[in-house]
Amino acid sequence: MRRKVAAGNWKMNGLKASIAELKALKASTAGANCDIIICPPATLIAAMAAVSGDIIIGGQDCHWNETGAHTGDTSAEMLKDAGAGAVILGHSERRADHGETDAEVNKKTLAAWRAGLQAIVCVGETEAQRDAGETLDVIGGQLDGSTPDATTAANTIVAYEPVWAIGTGRTPTLEEVAEVHDYLRAKLVTRFGDEIGNGIRLLYGGSVKPGNAVEIFAVSNVDGGLVGGASLKATDFSGIVSAAES
Ligand code: PEP
Repeated sequence: MRRKVAAGNWKMNGLKASIAELKALKASTAGANCDIIICPPATLIAAMAAVSGDIIIGGQDCHWNETGAHTGDTSAEMLKDAGAGAVILGHSERRADHGETDAEVNKKTLAAWRAGLQAIVCVGETEAQRDAGETLDVIGGQLDGSTPDATTAANTIVAYEPVWAIGTGRTPTLEEVAEVHDYLRAKLVTRFGDEIGNGIRLLYGGSVKPGNAVEIFAVSNVDGGLVGGASLKATDFSGIVSAAES
């Protein structure tokens, strides 16, 4: 039985005043029967980790080196030192805006583990790739390339996020979600064996809202969600946390 996860990605949103949303979320989700992860901008990690209680605070990216001449970057050790317990890696916005490759995401995943962070590794196809019938090939390749051989259920979560569903209000059909998640599960079992492959949580991401989370989280091999826009307000995200509990 995999414990469900409700993970929020705040992206480049949030000032110190937004810590009030985290506090409201903590109050409204106390004792929740699922893992809750909030990934704010790096500037808020330390302040939020200080008040987050059972809510895990995560980063949105890290460098693969521990220290060095990498202006503007943040290492996994720095995230951990600030109080993070997890980090999103290979989000499609990082892959598109910063040209991140599977090999780089793989190195970042190793860095996350080195620092003691759980990696949330993202995969997902573009609309053109889906229209061309390439979805499974694309996400299968991303999964293979982005996850190191030592992947376990404890050190890694995988998030399937169709690029065309992120921030658009559009979602795949439940059958399409099931097809991808069943495919990812089978690939994980083949590569890592029954115990690890069946233990790794698979999140769906892309326009998850309180109104559609229950049906999406009930789909085969969907172990919760990675949520952007609807994670910014505690009132919205607590509805998604409730869906992850059911
Ligand atoms: C995301 O950025 O990971 C995401 C899923 O965004 P949204 O929920 O806004 O589509």
